[in-house]
Amino acid sequence: MRRGLRDVVLVDERAPLTLTSDKSTECYRNWWPGPDGAMVALMNASIDRLEALAEESGNAFHLTRRGYVFATADPARIDGLRRESEGISGFGAGPLRVHQGDDAAYVPSAPDGVDASLTGADLLLGGPLVRRRFPYLAADTLAVLHARRCGWMSAQQLGMYLLERARAAGLRFLRARAEEIEVAAGAVRSVRTSAGTVAAERVVDAAGPYAGELARTAGCDLPLHSELHAKVAFRDTEQAVPRGAPFLIWIDPQRLYLSDDERRRLGGERAEWLERVFPPGAHLRPEGGPASDALLLIWGYEDRTAEPVWPPAFDPSYAEICLRGLVRMVPALSRYVGRTPKPVIDGGYYTKTRENRPLVGPLPVRGLYADCAFGGFGIMAAAGAASLLADHLTGVPLPDHAPAFLLSRYADPAYLARIERWGTSTGQL
Ligand SMILES: Cc1cc2nc3c(=O)[nH]c(=O)nc-3n(C[C@H](O)[C@H](O)[C@H](O)COP(=O)(O)OP(=O)(O)OC[C@H]3O[C@@H](n4cnc5c(N)ncnc54)[C@H](O)[C@@H]3O)c2cc1C
Repeated sequence: MRRGLRDVVLVDERAPLTLTSDKSTECYRNWWPGPDGAMVALMNASIDRLEALAEESGNAFHLTRRGYVFATADPARIDGLRRESEGISGFGAGPLRVHQGDDAAYVPSAPDGVDASLTGADLLLGGPLVRRRFPYLAADTLAVLHARRCGWMSAQQLGMYLLERARAAGLRFLRARAEEIEVAAGAVRSVRTSAGTVAAERVVDAAGPYAGELARTAGCDLPLHSELHAKVAFRDTEQAVPRGAPFLIWIDPQRLYLSDDERRRLGGERAEWLERVFPPGAHLRPEGGPASDALLLIWGYEDRTAEPVWPPAFDPSYAEICLRGLVRMVPALSRYVGRTPKPVIDGGYYTKTRENRPLVGPLPVRGLYADCAFGGFGIMAAAGAASLLADHLTGVPLPDHAPAFLLSRYADPAYLARIERWGTSTGQL
């Protein structure tokens, strides 16, 4: 609406934000691996907008800037962490400051608000420095990368703020199911919904986990798949994690602690499964203000492709597995092992392309656009993607990162060969 687009109808069969967007951990970062700077550019654009919205709204959606802390106890990973960080810094995520022996120049983050001067990242090397700044991390932690243009927000409040403003600017909301995007002579003509047909020259497919299904009604195949991801909310009643802590991620693979008794009780295949090496990436953050004792825990140790079904079902042992993984990073959490206080598990689908980059821009049917495939980063990317989409819709010059998010990238054999070589560096946590 800010770009002068008028006569916009938002068609959603649910209350906005209630399918995936209210299940997220609500975090954001501009710290994204390559192989090029497209994701950093998209996220920087998004965060520019989030900061402006926070400023104009009196921070109605509680944007924070505590940063992401990536921690390792493995000496063999430190060089890789440093090299990857130099790369990300080079993509435009801000300077990398390395602290070894002396951390006088390291600026801790404030629990609230946004200090926009904090960009790039600080790499703290050596156990003594890490222990001084992050005494609650495992005593054998050897290095910590603190990425600074990162934090979290209330996605629900951001969404509501934007929806109210859009409505005030003339947006119409139609609570209905979009059943078919109707096409004539290669161009979009209308959308048939459960509440009637809406004539439209331009249609944006932003149907989250159902974006592929909706595009198919217009004859477009989107290269998407979905993975079910859960998160756990539980009450840290004994303050194992300080309330002002940043977002904490353990980047080492690990084995879970199991007592002999548990091993005997579980037996066979289940014990074997639990005793395998689990992948890196267990993470957590405090949720709520100083009066809250909630923590959000996530660990995507099993990224399996799944057809979206609603409501999804979650493994009831997910909370205990996450907790045990996070004990490796924050040992004080061990007091909850076997007695996680009333965890709540929820989640939704990461709908993704194979290289975990979104689809933003025109599709092969004239007038049809995609704004989807946001995997585990749709909250942080939304503002940047919306701005890019508006560039496409209004025909203004596109930013340099635009081609990285077009569907047509998959028609380029050189690109396909390139993504084969990306390996695991897709930025997914
Ligand atoms: C556990 C978890 C943690 C996450 N953590 C983060 C995080 O920390 N930071 C971050 O940035 N992202 C995170 N994400 C990802 C983020 O939540 C998603 O990328 C984002 O919510 C996707 O938004 P969307 O608008 O594309 O999809 P959705 O929020 O699913 O919205 C799609 C909408 O389309 C509607 N719809 C679909 N089909 C139709 C139809 N045919 N007719 C009418 N309406 C239709 C649905 O009702 C829905 O409202 C997380 C996700 C999960 C599951």
